[in-house]
Amino acid sequence: MLKILLLGAPGVGKSTHSAKITKDFNIPAIATGDILRDNLKNETELGLKAKKFVEAGELVPDELVIALIEDRLDQDDTKNGYLLDGFPRTIAQAEVLDAFLASEGSGLDCVLYLNAAKEILVDRISGRRVCLDCKTAHKTSDAPDGICLECGGELVTRKDDESITALKRIEVYNEQTAPLVDYYRKKGILVEIDASFDVETVQAEVDKALSV
Ligand code: AMP
Repeated sequence: MLKILLLGAPGVGKSTHSAKITKDFNIPAIATGDILRDNLKNETELGLKAKKFVEAGELVPDELVIALIEDRLDQDDTKNGYLLDGFPRTIAQAEVLDAFLASEGSGLDCVLYLNAAKEILVDRISGRRVCLDCKTAHKTSDAPDGICLECGGELVTRKDDESITALKRIEVYNEQTAPLVDYYRKKGILVEIDASFDVETVQAEVDKALSV
């Protein structure tokens, strides 16, 4: 049972690398951002509560996200492990996750920390489109017709990828999420990967870290 966390700023490539890792290990990706966007789209009670935070590029309050993740981790497909993408994002969330895992007698196996300079993050966010169906992100230049190369779905710009909100998300990451790097480093489970290179180069480092 492999439990991996992908940690890194918006735009660093978490969902891109998540797709390969989850295929290699046959585990589900649990991406709180995707779950929240689905709730926004379907106008659920959670979606209505989370909307103003997501659209402003701010973090949704811990209690809402924690309830969401506890519910998700309880589902049957998590029994062989999972990959967390976008959770935890605060120390308080990390502590709740630790307590939850400790109550099951387990813990995270590996935290892959993808790191790249801010200019690279901004460039990647402004040049990407995301599939409405399978959520894969593509460079706009790779899929100029707006059709997903994975599933043929429609590619759209995430509303929170527009420039001011994207900068806000990077700022929020630096303030509230970056402290998790030290938190997990101290636990001895953090592997730092330079994610400033192209997808294949970074993927090779990810594979090495996970000994694929
Ligand atoms: P992401 O797709 O991971 O970039 O997340 C998109 C947005 O969803 C974030 O900017 C937050 O508003 C919200 N969000 C996702 N995960 C969390 C989390 N763990 N805690 C708080 N807010 C979150």
